[in-house]
Amino acid sequence: MNSRSAVIKVGGSLLEDGKSYFEVAERIRDTFIDRGYNVVIVVSAMKGITDDLLKVYEGSLQHLRNVVERYIDAAKYIGNSKLEKRIKEYAVKLESAYKLAFTGNITIKDLILSFGERISKVLLTEALSAIGVKAVELEAVELIITDDVHENASIILRETRNRVINIIKPLLRDNIAPVIEGFIGSSKHGEITTLGRGGSDYTATAIASLLGVNEVYLISNVPGVMTADPRYVHKA
Ligand code: ASP
Ligand code: MG
Repeated sequence: MNSRSAVIKVGGSLLEDGKSYFEVAERIRDTFIDRGYNVVIVVSAMKGITDDLLKVYEGSLQHLRNVVERYIDAAKYIGNSKLEKRIKEYAVKLESAYKLAFTGNITIKDLILSFGERISKVLLTEALSAIGVKAVELEAVELIITDDVHENASIILRETRNRVINIIKPLLRDNIAPVIEGFIGSSKHGEITTLGRGGSDYTATAIASLLGVNEVYLISNVPGVMTADPRYVHKA
């Protein structure tokens, strides 16, 4: 692995529309990749989307439409019809989950919430590729194993460690930037879990500590760049 590696968490406050995905991608390229960093990118949902998805879970068709529209608009801006088709497939799955929302099933709630990050990851990876960054999508549900405390799950590091190391290290060695969803994981029963509001920071710091990467950047709309919570990362 390159000696300079960093985990970068992209906050939802930066992701407002299709154009902002390109802005973030350019910022990552110019600030990190062009300066010799190998990066792991942890991405949040688009701004306001998690709040909207909570309303979707409560039964709001209006919020469902808003989420789908914003993501499809972004896909149109970023990519071609293939990307748009992919995002529409996610939208269909979200609509199916919405139909189950009234059952009061907590696993459905986390499933609905997960779409914000899952779609956002696809868009950011596409924007990175479009500006010449070698980037690949990873699946948080395959890498990040949690307990089954839905909506506030904890990452089981013992279960997550080998997956993260075995999948991510070879990519970094090849100068490929993995892009993974923050905020979500899956329980040992294979159900999607979420890590609590703002949980993308937790994902980023957990991945950094498992990889032994001690530079974590939490980029967001607030001035400057914050480094990670030292509770999770030593020498952040
Ligand atoms: N999208 C989630 C939230 O709004 C997680 C995050 O942004 O860190 O809480
Ligand atoms: Mg946040």
